[in-house]
Amino acid sequence: APMITFSNVQKRYGAVPALIDINAEVARGEVVVVCGPSGSGKSTLIRTVNRLEEIQAGSIQFDGQEVHGSLRGKQLNRLRSRIGFVFQSFNLFPHLSALDNVMLSPIKINGASREAARATAMRLLDRVGLSNKIQSFPAQLSGGQQQRVAIARALAMEPPAMLFDEPTSALDPEMVGEVLAVMRSLASEGMTMMCVTHEMGFARDVADRVWFMDAGRILEAATPDEFFRNP
Ligand code: ADP
Ligand code: ADP
Repeated sequence: APMITFSNVQKRYGAVPALIDINAEVARGEVVVVCGPSGSGKSTLIRTVNRLEEIQAGSIQFDGQEVHGSLRGKQLNRLRSRIGFVFQSFNLFPHLSALDNVMLSPIKINGASREAARATAMRLLDRVGLSNKIQSFPAQLSGGQQQRVAIARALAMEPPAMLFDEPTSALDPEMVGEVLAVMRSLASEGMTMMCVTHEMGFARDVADRVWFMDAGRILEAATPDEFFRNP
């Protein structure tokens, strides 16, 4: 079964249609890059997957579970914690060190011991190249470093898939590469990923499929070769 399945998804903000008739799948291990003009529904689409946005009709299955069904409270939080989400803004807890930011969810949500959570967090911060910054607070880190902490924090819940919503758009240009490098390495290890990004080099080199959205619809779902082929 696919990791993510959108079936007849419809979403409006008041009278404004944001998603129209979305039918699409993300296979296990697949990297999908979602692109398209501003306002075409990319961010809305990705935010429906962990129910940061509600939908009016249709269904979304994540790893075999209906996201927009009757899940509430703890169950919904538990599902959300299994869907790694990286935002444009880094969304770290400002009063917690990098290490504590990464340790928090495994302790709170999974009931992990402090030692186990700490070991996992150290391993993940090392993996994103920040083993020398574990005691730093977000304000002491560059944007690229903060975003790498945010990725490590998402990975701490061992999610079967990761969603990225313009993860490099708020970064100074010199920091974009360090974040894309982490995303590339995740992709090469088989992580299922859905990425909203304007980084077309990443789309060309890393995506298995590119979804092109316009006015709330997915107009094209193609391989990068097909998508970037000159007409
Ligand atoms: P993209 O990510 O491609 O820029 P969005 O998903 O942010 O597109 O927006 C899709 C459409 O929904 C746009 O017309 C946008 O103005 C509208 N929209 C997005 N968020 C809201 C909101 N919170 N309230 C009302 N309209 C919204
Ligand atoms: P890199 O590109 O390797 O992240 P930078 O030259 O951006 O390195 O940053 C060097 C150091 O300066 C970082 O380790 C970080 O601690 C600090 N730093 C950089 N940018 C900021 C920022 N915007 N706010 C706070 N500290 C920063």
